[in-house]
Amino acid sequence: MSAELEAQDPTATTLVAPDSGARWTQRYSAALMDTFGTPQRVLVRGEGVYVWDADGRRYLDLLAGIAVNALGHAHPTLTAAISAQLGTLGHVSNFFATPTQVALAERLLSIADAPEGSRVFFTNSGTEANEAVVKMARRTGRRRILALEGSFHGRTMGALAMTHKPAYREPFEPLPGGVEFLPFGDTEALEAAFAQDGDDVAALVLEPIQGEAGVRPLPPGYVALARRLTSDAGALLVLDEVQTGMGRTGRWLAHQHPHLGGGVRPDVVTLAKGLGGGFPIGAVVAYGERAATLLGRGQHGTTFGGNPVAAAAGLATIGVIERDGLLGSTTEVGERLRADIRGLGHPLVAEARGEGLLIAIELAAPVAATVAARALEAGFVVNPCNPTTLRLAPPLILTTDQVAPFVAFLGALPHDLGTEA
Ligand SMILES: *Cc1c(COP(=O)(O)O)cnc(C)c1O
Repeated sequence: MSAELEAQDPTATTLVAPDSGARWTQRYSAALMDTFGTPQRVLVRGEGVYVWDADGRRYLDLLAGIAVNALGHAHPTLTAAISAQLGTLGHVSNFFATPTQVALAERLLSIADAPEGSRVFFTNSGTEANEAVVKMARRTGRRRILALEGSFHGRTMGALAMTHKPAYREPFEPLPGGVEFLPFGDTEALEAAFAQDGDDVAALVLEPIQGEAGVRPLPPGYVALARRLTSDAGALLVLDEVQTGMGRTGRWLAHQHPHLGGGVRPDVVTLAKGLGGGFPIGAVVAYGERAATLLGRGQHGTTFGGNPVAAAAGLATIGVIERDGLLGSTTEVGERLRADIRGLGHPLVAEARGEGLLIAIELAAPVAATVAARALEAGFVVNPCNPTTLRLAPPLILTTDQVAPFVAFLGALPHDLGTEA
């Protein structure tokens, strides 16, 4: 046993001796790959909508681990559910089933309003869920996969092949082939993509609201058109709701909003991020017998996917969202927050958009990184997802009172921030 571990009280909540933020950052850089760059802070603790760094400073967490911590930090119900499952049965292989896993699959099918014959495949992340989608698309025997410009579907090779951003793709080419990118929200381009070789389209993969691209909703009617074209061509309509799903937008799934989904039933929905309330889990929901049987026995697998602890986390997260009416409060707090931000009338704040608690603040100048750094100094975690856009994806338990200091912070930003050297 390491001296560090031995020196600890085994009942302590941390297994690691404390150090300063600066020291942790040095140790991070020496021990971890540089894929994420230098971390902004080293965080040691969270409670509700707040996190604390290694130097004892508190932050209002308006990002929630990128749309993950739906119930905030250290939620007692989630903690108890995970602990109870781990203390009962922590992991089995997929040669065996667990009641927790079955119960979560049933809950997801019900949330998704999936018809008879629908099935779930569990993964550990969003990218893995989308990777499974690529394999499902291949199993149709068709070659073309359509995705949108600005898309983000993950970083493994198949998911990356459907991700548009050149900086993510180019270092890893060649990627699996057959993916075509269509201009975002362009209905003519969508029709044109099906007009020729429509019978060779395996799948059309869409995010109802593009998250990484800056909280960009598809225009009303787009998903309905996508449904009509895919149905006519016999192609799969896949909705990547990894970021928008599980209550984030005020409905269980974003496409259940009439203006985002047009009331359509997709063939596949992928989920992850908020699903486990912070515990890693992803899922593929396949609607109806055809989609649900594309991956046959032995054609896909995972060691951890469907893990009972992760499934318990999913069940507890869904249970709390339901019990505490968090879909309704997500809608209300999100609407109010966007209205309050607009109401500032600050010249730097051009727009506040989004759905529920997936929100973008559009700035009038490319100063998102500067504003995010100032916000962090002032005790607010936000994400500059491109030079002009701040993304907020706070815990769904957030209240208007808790977020008021952040609105005040925005209001007090210098008007000339964009023109400073
Ligand atoms: C985050 C995200 C993914 C990737 O999920 P990971 O859990 O990071 O692998 C895929 N699609 C969308 C829309 C996402 O927001």
